[in-house]
Amino acid sequence: MTRNLPPVVVIGGGHAGVEAADAAARLGADVVLVTLRPEALVRLSCNPAIGGIGKGHLVREIDALGGLMGRAADAAGIHFRVLNRSRGPAVRGPRAQQDFETYPAVVRRLLGRHGRVELLAGEVVGLRFDGDRVSAVETAAGEVIEAASVVVTTGTFLGGKLFRGEEEEPGGRAGEPPSVALSEALRMAGLRLGRFKTGTPPRLLARSVDLQRFEVQPGDEPPEPFSFANLALPRFRPPMPQVPTHLAQTNPRVHAVVRANLDRSPLYTGRIRAKGPRYCPSFEDKVVRFPDRDRHLLHLEPMGIEHPWIYVNGLSTSLPPEAQEEIVHAIEGLEDAVIARYGYAVEYDYAPPTQLHPTLEAKTRRGLFLAGQICGTTGYEEAAGLGLVAGVNAALRAMGRDPWVPDRFDSYLGVMVDDLTTRGVLEPYRMFTSRAEMRLSLSPDTADRRLRPVAEHLGLVSRADLERTERRWEAIQAARAALERRGPRGSAAQRLRRGEPPEEVLSEVEAARRLPPADRATLAASVRYEGYLERERKEVARLRQAESIRLPRDFDFSRIPGLSHEVRERLAEVRPASLGQAARIPGVTPAALALLAAAVGTRRHAAPA
Ligand code: FAD
Repeated sequence: MTRNLPPVVVIGGGHAGVEAADAAARLGADVVLVTLRPEALVRLSCNPAIGGIGKGHLVREIDALGGLMGRAADAAGIHFRVLNRSRGPAVRGPRAQQDFETYPAVVRRLLGRHGRVELLAGEVVGLRFDGDRVSAVETAAGEVIEAASVVVTTGTFLGGKLFRGEEEEPGGRAGEPPSVALSEALRMAGLRLGRFKTGTPPRLLARSVDLQRFEVQPGDEPPEPFSFANLALPRFRPPMPQVPTHLAQTNPRVHAVVRANLDRSPLYTGRIRAKGPRYCPSFEDKVVRFPDRDRHLLHLEPMGIEHPWIYVNGLSTSLPPEAQEEIVHAIEGLEDAVIARYGYAVEYDYAPPTQLHPTLEAKTRRGLFLAGQICGTTGYEEAAGLGLVAGVNAALRAMGRDPWVPDRFDSYLGVMVDDLTTRGVLEPYRMFTSRAEMRLSLSPDTADRRLRPVAEHLGLVSRADLERTERRWEAIQAARAALERRGPRGSAAQRLRRGEPPEEVLSEVEAARRLPPADRATLAASVRYEGYLERERKEVARLRQAESIRLPRDFDFSRIPGLSHEVRERLAEVRPASLGQAARIPGVTPAALALLAAAVGTRRHAAPA
């Protein structure tokens, strides 16, 4: 590859790394993606599924910004299901089981389409700086790769240690080595590191399990895709064959095995001290925390159409192999199951994200960006979303263009970036719809309307992509107007508000009939939730006022009279860009905020025009 400018270097080929590389390439940057094992690019290290509540929202936003995840998940999906379907549109979460081999193959193909991303096998062990700006990375093989900016996306690999019972070995995930030297390089770049942990369940040999003994959970018919390109189709037909998943249950005998082996669990013997994701607890945790429950639900999920393994969702454990054998065989229907790979826990280094600007650039070094699990998150979708944001800003930085920060009131991406960089994390962060103040306005079906314009402005999607979105919303608006026309039983809008079945009402309106099924659902929701949406719009306008009071980058918080030492420290660490952001920092009280507001006012008055 011949280049004029040094490339954007992305370290790591996981979910964050590929979105970062792809986004930077779409903006016109040359990219070198260095990863330990290119053959394990974008591996689904844990569950073979994309999306879910909150997470599916992120995938739609990634897609609206031209990212890879939604398209790849549609192409490799083998079981589509919208979670929370019976609830309101804000909390419905599209999800799809993935074919373990096809998903990375599709991502690899999409990543190659620009001819701008060079994939290199190697371990980055060092970072070089020119003053306070990153200038190159060094690999274990002694290669020095010049870089205009660098995105670090090392997932669970930094200082990674794998645990199973009394066994403990260095590793980034099963069968792969950890990355050790890079932790030191990040410390030398001025970053503090902490430790988190996560875990994964055993995998079963599919041929050893008689699935007919379990309750079947079929996928949705018709399936609902992630990508807006597929949502626009009259009917989305997944290219992969579709298969069901199955439900299993634990029982008191299983729980007794767990209790009897707790003294061999690294989580309970204190060998793992790091915090894990509370919302994705290990099975040991579930048994201990809910002693009155005599059963827990498990999902038996295929890892692919041809893949020989089944993933046991809900049984994450780091108990020793003998205990895992006992547990699995005590589950009704799994008496003869063969474990293909035992569950394990992984402990790894992460960088507390308040050390990052909302562009995901390190505050200590220009041009050094962090994304994915290294920022204290958990999950593929969170990683991919952060990767996209970091990749965009790494390319913008390389090109000398203004940075981009997703808006908290316009996207879950904005909520996540703001939560991480303003509030920090006490445990691995995963996305929930409850994290967003404006969740009705952020429903997944509206991600294109919210984000395509900025994506086109940045150069992430084409003019034609934006026009498709505009046409979609014009058609929805036209149908919306048609719903107000009076009929013998009142207008269609009135009938929807009265709770009449949307499909029946909309089938009587010509403009609504012409819309694809997904858009009819959007249309119906826009009528039913009109009042709430209006209230949210007013609330956003109010909140934006506090955001519009900007705090200069060089603001000296130590000089504000009356602020406690603790509040001063928190403000100096986060360095909020606005009064609104300052209000979201834990520990910044309303009284402190009033002092800050007064100080900003004074400074404004004192500053020359
Ligand atoms: P990863 O997908 O981990 O990718 C990291 C990449 O960096 C890899 O390609 C690696 O080769 C590369 N790399 C690392 N160091 C270097 C280096 N020095 N030089 C070059 N390349 C390097 N998610 C959930 O949502 N729920 C769960 O319960 C859950 N449990 C998990 C359990 C386990 C055991 C593991 C391993 C993961 C689990 N996940 C879980 C997490 C999910 O896999 C991650 O959130 C997601 O993969 C993070 O994406 P990432 O891109 O940040 O990192």
